[in-house]
Amino acid sequence: MSRNYYIAGNWKMHKTRQEAAELAGALVEGLKDGKHKYLVAPSFTLLETVAPIVKGTNIRLGAQNMAVDVQGAHTGETSVLQLKDLGVQTVILGHSERRHLYKEDDELINKKVKLALRHGLEVILCVGELLEEREAGRAEAVCETQTVKGLEGILVTDLANIVIAYEPVWAIGTGKTATPEDADAIHAWVRGVIGRLYGAAAAGDIIIQYGGSVKPDNAAQLMAKENIDGALVGGAALKADSFVPIGKFS
Ligand code: PEP
Repeated sequence: MSRNYYIAGNWKMHKTRQEAAELAGALVEGLKDGKHKYLVAPSFTLLETVAPIVKGTNIRLGAQNMAVDVQGAHTGETSVLQLKDLGVQTVILGHSERRHLYKEDDELINKKVKLALRHGLEVILCVGELLEEREAGRAEAVCETQTVKGLEGILVTDLANIVIAYEPVWAIGTGKTATPEDADAIHAWVRGVIGRLYGAAAAGDIIIQYGGSVKPDNAAQLMAKENIDGALVGGAALKADSFVPIGKFS
């Protein structure tokens, strides 16, 4: 089993180019002696600005989404080739905002996962249940389905380039965090699903991030749990003052 913590920041639809450059510069400085793996995922319009700032540092460059087609007549979409051209190394797929606001389903997300892997990108595949699904006792089943369908057709040899992010939808941007115990239980469940699909070694190696109102004051308790291997951070990723301490939790 070889799992290192992986702390990722999803900037969503925030920041101008100047603000993004300032934040990226502050993160490079603040995290340069950080011990974990790091990533920032700015908007498409900011990638060209942020790329040279994080290049050669311990911070990876990520995109928040990607088109399902390689190129062509797809107004408003951004292709894997365009992302790679900008130096993007990782793509976040299946974020709950893509699933629920933009109606992306498991089949579409799976096609994107395969395309990203085929082009050598690392994928952060997000899964997570709605509040009503949790209240109906379906959190495990929902996360299992999203994991199984998201990874359909993916070989065990590709898993080194897959990270799962468990993000309970009711905890995203709400200030409500899953308790470390509740989060760990779902992480263990998802790890079990990976074990059934790909075997015990793959289950032991896969990184499962938690996302949902991670802040400097709750990061350490979450990361202390056996099955929580990092964080996908939204709101607290927008300031170096909050992202750096999360990245250096102890
Ligand atoms: C997210 O968008 O992935 C997220 C977890 O957001 P927040 O940290 O703001 O809840």
